[in-house]
Amino acid sequence: MSSTPNIPIPRNEPVLGYAPGAPERETLKAALALMSAEQLEIPVVAGGRELRSGTLVDVVSPHAHQRVLARVHQADAGGIRAAVDAAVAAQREWASWRFEDRAAVFLKAAELLASSHRAILNAATMLGQSKTAFQAEIDSACELIDFLRFNVAYAEQIYREQPGSSPGVWNRMDHRPLEGFVYAITPFNFTAIGGNLPTAPALMGNTVVWKPAATAALSNYHFFRLLEEAGLPPGVINFLPGNAVDISDALLAERMLAGIHFTGSTPVFHSLWKTVGGNLDRYHGYPRLVGETGGKDFVLAHASADVDALAAGLVRGAFEYQGQKCSAASRAYIPDSIWPAVMQRMTDMMATIRVGDVADFRNFMGAVIDARAFRKISGYLERARQDAGVSIVAGGGADDSEGWFIEPTLLQVEDPRYRLMCEEIFGPVLTVYVYPERRWAETLTLVDETSPYALTGAVFAQDRAALVEADRALRNAAGNYYVNDKPTGAVVGQQPFGGARASGTNDKAGSILNLLRWVSPRSIKETFAPPKDYRYPFMGAE
Ligand code: NAD
Repeated sequence: MSSTPNIPIPRNEPVLGYAPGAPERETLKAALALMSAEQLEIPVVAGGRELRSGTLVDVVSPHAHQRVLARVHQADAGGIRAAVDAAVAAQREWASWRFEDRAAVFLKAAELLASSHRAILNAATMLGQSKTAFQAEIDSACELIDFLRFNVAYAEQIYREQPGSSPGVWNRMDHRPLEGFVYAITPFNFTAIGGNLPTAPALMGNTVVWKPAATAALSNYHFFRLLEEAGLPPGVINFLPGNAVDISDALLAERMLAGIHFTGSTPVFHSLWKTVGGNLDRYHGYPRLVGETGGKDFVLAHASADVDALAAGLVRGAFEYQGQKCSAASRAYIPDSIWPAVMQRMTDMMATIRVGDVADFRNFMGAVIDARAFRKISGYLERARQDAGVSIVAGGGADDSEGWFIEPTLLQVEDPRYRLMCEEIFGPVLTVYVYPERRWAETLTLVDETSPYALTGAVFAQDRAALVEADRALRNAAGNYYVNDKPTGAVVGQQPFGGARASGTNDKAGSILNLLRWVSPRSIKETFAPPKDYRYPFMGAE
């Protein structure tokens, strides 16, 4: 049920600085020390009941992979069944709650996260996902708080959206939740996305089965517990860690699957979509498929670009969080006229970057998420060393003895269609193609056509005409497009995030567009004085 109360106007959560001496720094360090010393046991939670299968998978610190932070019970068939049943059973009651009561749960969750739970979620994200204090703060604190608060305000706009009425008639729109449950499948790289994918549909009155990424289970579980503390009733969101394929096979075969809210890699979303297509006859309705997927995000420099701004944008855009942002700069196109200066500036900066344990606040980078990512990225570096036409400008090292560390790496290629320019690597590797300055127009086409993705992209130029030209040529090359800025760091309420082509359905997480996917409107027409006769006046005798 819905009504339209006045929702507090959301403002972006201020980002705390964690500078030496700041009180938040001490609180965070205390939380890090506490969490490093304990080993949490994480159950499946279905309908508020904790289930322990006894099959356990460890969550370790990527930067110190011998340190086990948590042991996670993997859902078995019984756990999967329980989660689906709990979600379906909770639906009628949850959908009947007034919007303001549902909203209050998520607004309270935002408040808890902004205060008492901030350090816990940030510490879990730092230790479990190897984010620095700043990267954790902008993710597990600020972005997640923003998702919760802004979504409530956007939901109110949806409920306010009502049709007009003619005399004697009252038309209404009932923005119903979907019939069935929503399956939220979340990635490792943002705790905020982990939190947003289940809560956005739940806010609109849906119930959810949430499968977190194995490597983000620690922070995701803390957030799940926070939701319970904020008053989320049992069964509305069910926490289902475990084998992704087993869980998806089971859930995608469920008659009451009403939607999938996915963020992760493109191949996985393809396989989910295909399975849903193959199972269409089974379903009660057409499941809504929302997926934000991979990227091969570009930075294009014009000869008029400000070299210092470009170099800083490239270093931050490519290497923060070890390049494991879907928005990370991973291919750059730089004109030959400014490349020597850009290269000098970048290599100077890169020489000062410290990589290591994120609990040491002097480090700018931590480790990549797991052994598989380490192998994949170091495999690309190995090939780069062997292939003709590739030169390593800076970095290139990898060491997994203590943690899965990859050096920030700058490569230069001669062939702009070489695989490093097309494939998503998801690590701290930036590949540059140096183009002849006079071939600006051809380079625009090259940027547009080189990769199947279209997530983020940035253009650096001071010449306005060049910006106009780039804007036109690259209109479909990115869902989030930046001018003289790095392609990462989208803020909820300011740059709604998502891309098209192979990057997803572009339903813009944390916006009204996304929430619209989780409602199924019912048009209601009520006539106060209905006609009592079938005949129309024109039928009268002359
Ligand atoms: P991933 O695809 O490996 O995993 C995402 C989720 O899918 C996890 O919960 C995982 O357990 C699950 N999964 C894995 N294999 C599955 C299968 N066969 N069937 C069903 N579920 C399966 O992605 P990841 O490594 O967690 O995240 C990185 C990827 O996510 C990158 O490609 C990145 O670009 C993308 N990403 C995109 C956005 C965006 O907004 N477009 C945001 C963040 C991450």
